[in-house]
Amino acid sequence: MSRKILVTSALPYANGSIHLGHLVEYIQTDIWVRFQKMLGNTCYYVCADDTHGTPVMLRAEKEGITPEQLIDRVWHEHKTDFDGFHVEFDHYGSTNSAETKEFAQAIYRKLKAAGLIEVRSVEQFYDPVKNMFLPDRFIKGECPKCHAKDQYGDNCEVCGTTYSPIELINPYSAVSGAQPERRNSDHYFFKLSADTCQQFLREWTRSGTLQPEAANKMQEWLGTMGENKLTDWDISRDAPYFGFEIPDAPGKYFYVWLDAPVGYMGSFKQFCNANNINFDDYWKQDSDAELYHFIGKDILYFHALFWPAMLQHAGFRTPTKLFAHGFLTVNGEKMSKSRGTFITAKSYVDHIKNTEYLRYYYAAKLNGTMEDLDLNLEDFVAKVNSDLIGKYINIASRTAGFITKHFNGEINYTQVENTPEFKQYDEHLRQEVEKLYEAREYAHVVRRIMKRADELNEGFDTLKPWVLAKDPNNHHQLQQRCSLILHEFKVISVLLAPILPVLTERIAKEFFGLNRNFVWDDAITLTEKINPYEHLMTRLDPKLIEAMVAANQESLQPAVPVQSEQRHAAHQQNEVKKEMTETSKESESYISIDDFMKVDLRVAHIVNAEHVAGAEKLLKLTLDIGEAQPRTVFAGIKSAYDPEKLKGRMTVMVANLAPRKMKFGLSEGMVLAASGDTPGLFILSPDDGAQPGMRIK
Ligand SMILES: [Zn+2]
Repeated sequence: MSRKILVTSALPYANGSIHLGHLVEYIQTDIWVRFQKMLGNTCYYVCADDTHGTPVMLRAEKEGITPEQLIDRVWHEHKTDFDGFHVEFDHYGSTNSAETKEFAQAIYRKLKAAGLIEVRSVEQFYDPVKNMFLPDRFIKGECPKCHAKDQYGDNCEVCGTTYSPIELINPYSAVSGAQPERRNSDHYFFKLSADTCQQFLREWTRSGTLQPEAANKMQEWLGTMGENKLTDWDISRDAPYFGFEIPDAPGKYFYVWLDAPVGYMGSFKQFCNANNINFDDYWKQDSDAELYHFIGKDILYFHALFWPAMLQHAGFRTPTKLFAHGFLTVNGEKMSKSRGTFITAKSYVDHIKNTEYLRYYYAAKLNGTMEDLDLNLEDFVAKVNSDLIGKYINIASRTAGFITKHFNGEINYTQVENTPEFKQYDEHLRQEVEKLYEAREYAHVVRRIMKRADELNEGFDTLKPWVLAKDPNNHHQLQQRCSLILHEFKVISVLLAPILPVLTERIAKEFFGLNRNFVWDDAITLTEKINPYEHLMTRLDPKLIEAMVAANQESLQPAVPVQSEQRHAAHQQNEVKKEMTETSKESESYISIDDFMKVDLRVAHIVNAEHVAGAEKLLKLTLDIGEAQPRTVFAGIKSAYDPEKLKGRMTVMVANLAPRKMKFGLSEGMVLAASGDTPGLFILSPDDGAQPGMRIK
């Protein structure tokens, strides 16, 4: 039976360009949606620009245009970028729409009627220069917990603590640089701490709606039964604000994060209106349609707590599942402008043109977990050229000529076909790949298909068709065998279609002469003819990558996410703070003293050292650093040290490394050791007199 599915990706913010980091999610989602559509399911994919809030307002002001003009321009830029990467939304809207406004207000009214909205006077920072209340992200200061400098007003990027901006030490306005004043203002809160929300969320987050690692995170946030760890959510902002006014509350606007997910509904509503689809079928409380949100792991909190609680208490259905993914690194590091690895979608298209290379590479790395994904540029070139060109396309390019030349393009493998093995094989392969796509295990899909491509290439080499072609007596075998290889090329083309939609459409229409695109069942139906092979794909030239990286390095264009843009704004207007906060091109290879101070190095007394049963490289160390309990650290120094000789020694450990669960137990830190090109491993010792627990700085 055909499923009814509604899929969304997170809404990109209308204040910056789409970059390769964003594209992980859109490509991941698009592949899944295309797969569902090929299967014959009813599947709609909607998204929208997220347009409201202070950053958009301030940027428009800076550019001397209205927010509406700004978001209109950015909408077109975003849409062009998505089109370029073949991300095929059924509808791409904007949160600044009548539909989204209506849903936001309706949800608010229902929450209010249910007693879940509360008005409280809140003391908040006010910028006396800009005459506005400052959003959390526009106040910076010192983290109240770990004392890291220049942290945003809502959470610390160093220690991860969330707090109220009032708690910041030495706060300053990131807009004007002024010291903010405290003023009172009425704020509207969604009572997430209410019993009904807590109970609902406990159940919802454990009901299979989340990936296991996300569900665990939620349990942390929710606390144990009886604990009430959720705090109420401030959903209002004061004028001036670009957004929707709260009903019956003049001068109060919905916080951008309230109407952003509502944008999923608003965008879908527009699509329904234009296509005569019943919106309620997908959103009413007892809907039998499935609803999936693809998101980055950084916005889990909004999607796994606020959003389902809002929907539940406003009488709508809740999401079937959330699919969270990790972040993108490039060459193993955070995307960086100084390294030229902060690459926008547009820059990629300008330099590389073929965006299916990247779709393929991301697919080859994506799975269903929240793990981060690395775009290694060298590996990218190698993989595209060896897999896509060298394995996949190669099958058609080397086999087709024999069928075209000797058999007029006619595919005939009836005698091979009658042996049941390969039909079973096709069916089995299709089912296997189907399960993997459904579970978003694309890396596994790609591996499976490339394994098949290897087999087909090997089959071709063993067959030696160029030898068979010389003798007409062998032509029957030549046709049968080459036909089968080309049929199998069709099978894997069908299976790759969600990842490579443009290439496979050409293969379907131009090479196999179908007057339509592939459907999933083409993976098990017979193939009858081919057209002469025409060049399908060009190798990826590493020089293009070099040029792209160089261009991004030189221009340092502001292809910026929200935060960087805010930093940027702050710098321009605040010369004093500038020196403290700016990460300039030159300074990026250095770390600041603040960075260094993040590493808590301590003198440690090795109380005990022992072998670990089953471990080849590790020793288990018990380290006293002046705390009530000694720490356990597993150190990879077995090759260099006899544990007996370590006992009683002093050394140096990193004390604030996140504890790591290892096969043999929890490791609560790291011991430092020196090594070089020659063999040997040397742990450090402090000079005589150093005491356990002393800080090294
Ligand atoms: Zn902190």
